[in-house]
Amino acid sequence: MAQNLTRRRFIEDHRDLPPGQLVALIGSHRRVAWPQLCPACGALATTHIDVAKIFGRRSRYGGYSYYRLIVRMRIPFCRSCADRHEQLVKPMPSVIGSFFRTPALLSFIGAAAVAAILSMIFLQGGEDVSPGMRLYALGGILLLVGMGIFITAREARFLRVPPLTEITRACDFSDNVGFPFGWRRLYAIRNAAFADAFTRANHDRRWTDAIRKRDDVISTIAFVVLIVAALTAWLLRG
Ligand SMILES: [Zn+2]
Repeated sequence: MAQNLTRRRFIEDHRDLPPGQLVALIGSHRRVAWPQLCPACGALATTHIDVAKIFGRRSRYGGYSYYRLIVRMRIPFCRSCADRHEQLVKPMPSVIGSFFRTPALLSFIGAAAVAAILSMIFLQGGEDVSPGMRLYALGGILLLVGMGIFITAREARFLRVPPLTEITRACDFSDNVGFPFGWRRLYAIRNAAFADAFTRANHDRRWTDAIRKRDDVISTIAFVVLIVAALTAWLLRG
């Protein structure tokens, strides 16, 4: 249901576009065919911009946990629009800079603190610590520090995703709204010629009404099966 909301919100965000410039595709975004045109102005595309967007999703495994992910697409643009984008895009922190700016840095500090204590006890400790024990402790310390770096670096990535600019918004894309049926994603394109070429290039991947109806039928059947199963379990109870 949350995905329906995501879909509606994306359509609402781009309601200024004619319906033909809102393209719905199935399958992974990595297999999308890009026309060699600029989605912002329709000129011949001679370069590209690596566009990234952060999406938040509710965990599918129960509870209210929420996680974020980054979706990246290499989208063709013309040189002058790409240059304009470079002027508009917000400067982002470097890999090291973002590492020290994320609140997840606390997990690295915690891991480093525990590692320091372990090293004081086992590595710099008296002669009563056996060489085997020292090696074991060293392994634990390295693992701890490695995990601290991994967790912090993973979170720091989100600080390096700039918001869309006036240019990259010309080819906006939604999160996957197809779960559990697979990949379904919406693309909102400003330039009509690009939208037309994009739709034709991805003709066999279009999220048609037929596929939408089939998804609806499957989800209705799944719902009914679930109700029947619950009812059966209730009737057969002790
Ligand atoms: Zn352009």
